[in-house]
Amino acid sequence: MLRVADHFERSDTGRARRENEDSFYARSPMFAVADGMGGAQAGEVASQTAVQVLQQGLPERGGSVEERLRELVTEANARINALSRADEQHAGMGTTLTLAYVGEHELSVAHVGDSRLYRLREGMFERLTDDHTLVEELVRQGKLTPQEADHHPQRSIITRALGPEAAVEADSHTWPARDGDVYLICSDGLTSMISERQVGELLAAAPSLSDAGRKLVDAANAAGGRDNITVILFRLEDVGALGGGGPTQDTTEHDAVSAPASEEATVGGAAAEAATASGGRAATAVAAPPAEPAARPREPRAPRPPREEPGRRRRRRISPGVFLGLFLVVAILLSAYYASQTVYFVGTSDDGFVTVYRGLPYDGPAGLDLYNVNYLSSVPVSELPAGQRRLVTEHKLRSRDDAQDLVRQMETGALRRQ
Ligand code: MG
Repeated sequence: MLRVADHFERSDTGRARRENEDSFYARSPMFAVADGMGGAQAGEVASQTAVQVLQQGLPERGGSVEERLRELVTEANARINALSRADEQHAGMGTTLTLAYVGEHELSVAHVGDSRLYRLREGMFERLTDDHTLVEELVRQGKLTPQEADHHPQRSIITRALGPEAAVEADSHTWPARDGDVYLICSDGLTSMISERQVGELLAAAPSLSDAGRKLVDAANAAGGRDNITVILFRLEDVGALGGGGPTQDTTEHDAVSAPASEEATVGGAAAEAATASGGRAATAVAAPPAEPAARPREPRAPRPPREEPGRRRRRRISPGVFLGLFLVVAILLSAYYASQTVYFVGTSDDGFVTVYRGLPYDGPAGLDLYNVNYLSSVPVSELPAGQRRLVTEHKLRSRDDAQDLVRQMETGALRRQ
């Protein structure tokens, strides 16, 4: 009989984002990572709502473990979808969810999105889940190579998420598990920053799960930390037929603020932690830390509105500063226009003749000229004495009479004699 001998979890905001929209759940024997998306902190609400649903544990009745995991996913989706419909601020929010459950002899998972599950077994590091992403589907269709997918600009677009639609299909699997297996569940903030090979090597070389977890987060941040980074690690041991051995070694560590022990997660607020002991096993449920003011678009993901990014679907408001800036730009342009109607300068035409221009000697935005020809003389600039050429190249602002008098003198030669 298997049990969780050790586990470690950490969620880190990363170096580019100001808020952490990832949440996780770690209460042996169930572990999950949720990576939220949506503007105005909606991503946190989505991922924390998913974690909150997991607090109720695996449904006691029903079919197989996989079916009951999918039931949790369905319930989480329904709850997030209802919240997104009830509040315009949360419209379109969503989250990934990768949810693993340790059985007596096997590991089951249900997942939606691109948060991944990996297994390290006897030195072999292997991904167990398929991403629900545009690029991974293109790879499966043979339209992209895995190498191309790794660097594809749209690699973070996901094709399934909890929340955006009233119904969602979760993938689920069950694998035989073994003594010594180490499992990693992570958000894409880890795997988009460092390669799977690096992840596997760091994990295999680390002396403990806590050391491995810290090194993984540090490596993702060292590589840029462009997204929130969440890792959950757990190791299984076989305790024999009777099972239920001694207490689990709990190396849980996270960046969340601890809340009073409670079975209820705090959603949309401070991180919640529920630590209970059950059957000699440490139990910890944690939501990611509350967000600070947000930044970046996570790049848009499909089908929900795209992330990042940023692309994230944030409702945009015009701040007073932007308003003032726009006002100043308009005022400057209007001033320039009126000024251009009252001033003149002497310059050179395209074909080299002395010319009087009305307006300002500048090119406006978008290729617009701030001047036009007022008078085109027959005096080639090339024939002017060197001392007078400066008068047509300095573009000094003049009154109309002054500019026209100057050119007239050039035409008559009067200026030359002065
Ligand atoms: Mg992410």
